[in-house]
This record gives sequence, structure tokens and C-alpha cells, in this order.
Amino acid sequence: MIIVTRIGVTDEEIDQIRERVEALGLRTHISKGETHTVIGCIGDEELLEHAPLQAIPGVESVHPVMKPFKLAAREFAAQPTRIPLGGVELGAKEVVVIAGPCSVEGEQMILDTARAVSAMGARGLRGGAYKPRSSPYSFDGMGLEGLELLARARETSGLPIVTEVMDTRQVEQVAGHADVLQIGARNMQNFALLTEVGRVQRPVLLKRGMSATIKDLLLAAEYIMKQGNTHVILCERGIRTFETATRNTFDLAAIPVLKKETHLPVVADPSHAGGRTDLVIPLAAAAIAAGADGLLVEVHPRPIEAVSDGEQSLTFEQFDEMMAALRPVAQAVGRGLASGAPG
Ligand code: PEP
Ligand code: MN
Repeated sequence: MIIVTRIGVTDEEIDQIRERVEALGLRTHISKGETHTVIGCIGDEELLEHAPLQAIPGVESVHPVMKPFKLAAREFAAQPTRIPLGGVELGAKEVVVIAGPCSVEGEQMILDTARAVSAMGARGLRGGAYKPRSSPYSFDGMGLEGLELLARARETSGLPIVTEVMDTRQVEQVAGHADVLQIGARNMQNFALLTEVGRVQRPVLLKRGMSATIKDLLLAAEYIMKQGNTHVILCERGIRTFETATRNTFDLAAIPVLKKETHLPVVADPSHAGGRTDLVIPLAAAAIAAGADGLLVEVHPRPIEAVSDGEQSLTFEQFDEMMAALRPVAQAVGRGLASGAPG
């Protein structure tokens, strides 16, 4: 249920509405827009059924949210959600680029990558310390040591860290080192994990499952938000289809659809979507043109030596080339690339 306030509502009136809803046993989420404030009611809506909310001073209208996802629905917030990341915001006017290797492989490579991508305009550092691998015999990450190396890379580069958490038992440890918790495609419907990351005070980057619909993705976000963590970033990373020319099929349309359906920021991962270095720049450009708020891109000092996803990773030089190619695209759609000082 959402309550929309009238133009010119006072802070006292908003407090009174909030208190009334909370007294009925629900939680509230306040979202201030330019003219109206939206008060989202979280919890058992039946408790509101007979309450004369319309009569509270300051209330203009009361609406049920008709979508299966409520907290993630566009109408739940008066304006798009902005999620702070270092010195910039995801979901604001400027496009935020997050870059780094698929996996943290050692100290030198992660520090070198952090320094290089930061100098070239990245505003976040990605890198997996815990890696979901299709084969149990593949390298599955450096674990805690990898997290410590990421924390060191943040110190030297100033870039906030985005890294994957795969298991409820790792949430506390990963949240202790990372700035953003990544939920990988293979775990998008790991409901216990979604619930657990919903309880921590860290933004979550939620990747679309390879056979998940857009609705499934939004419902997965809802699991996280229902626990109180409303800082969810959605990521389109390609889905499985019959096509074999690319690793996955990049669902470009998901970006404008998500931007319509939700107030949450939407990013795209052109690396996993195409699975090929030569496709990263065109897919990244398409994502920005379609309205993506950010990008998650794999970059490695020497992709041919990478222990995972080398075939889709950019060299530093290619990353620089990508940033140059993206600037005019962002400008053409009335945006720019975020360049606020990291850290
Ligand atoms: C990754 O980001 O390296 C990764 C494993 O991605 P996904 O979960 O989208 O496959
Ligand atoms: Mn990868």
C-alpha cells in the first residue's frame, strides 16, 4: 500500500501519517519527490483495511500496489533510488562504471588493476574472492585472502569494492570487507541468501539469473528489500537462449523495461552477456543508450593468463578505449560518465 501526500504537506503531517501506519503494525518507507511524498507501507496490508488513512491531514490518496513486487515497484518511491558508491551515486544522472577482474588472483594483479581502472574513470572495483564455477574442479576463488587483497586495493585506489557472496555463512565476512555485495546469476533465487543480505547495511548488486524473467528478478529484489535493505542494484547480464554465438543472449530490452517497472538502479554486464572481448564495447554502448545507470565490466592485466573469464576480459588499453567510446554515447542520451573523486 502506498500513501501519496498532498502538495505542500508539512514534515509534522508526514510524521503523523508514518506514526499512524506504524501504530497499526506496519513499517514505513518515506520517499520525497519534488511535489509529493510517497509513504510506502510494508507488512500485512490487511491491517490497514479498515483504517481511515484518507482522513489523516496531509493525505491526498491511498493506493494498493497492484504488482506482485511491492517495495521494488516504481510507484513505491516518489523518485528513482540513488545508491551511494564511494563519491558517486548509482541511479543518478551520471553512468557509473565498475571494473575489475573476474577473480582476485593475487596481490599484484588486483592492485595494478585497481590503479589502472581508477585512473581511466572506473568508480568501483569488481573482483570475486568466492567464485561460483560450473565445474567443481575449477578455481573457486581465494576466499578470505582475496577479500583482504580487495580491501588493500580499495586503500590504494580509493575505489569501493563490489564482490560476490555465495553462501549465507559468508555474508558477515564479505560484508566486513566489501562496499557492495554481489549476488551472482546462479544464486538469484537462493532465497535464504537473499534474506540474509537483506539484513545487512550494504548495497546489493543482484544479477539476473540465466533463466529468470524480469519479474523473477524483481521478486528476488523484493526478498532483499523486505528485510529492510532497500539498496538493491539490478544487473542484466544476459540470459540463456538457443543462440550459441554468444555466451549468453544480452536482453537489452530488460533495461528500459526495468527502468519503467522499478525505482531501483539498473546496471548491465556486457562481459558475461557476450562472453567475448570484442563484444564488450558495443554491448556497453547499447546498454547506456538503453538507459543503464552503470556497467560492470571485466578487466585483467593479462587476459590470456586469467584463471577465469579471460576470453571476455578487457586489457587496460581496451578498457581505456571503451571509456572513450562510451563518453559520447552517455552524452547523447543526456548523461555523462561519473567522474566524482573515488573514495
Ligand atoms: C561474475 O561476475 O564474475 C559472475 C560469476 O557473474 P554471473 O553471476 O553473472 O555469471
Ligand atoms: Mn566472470
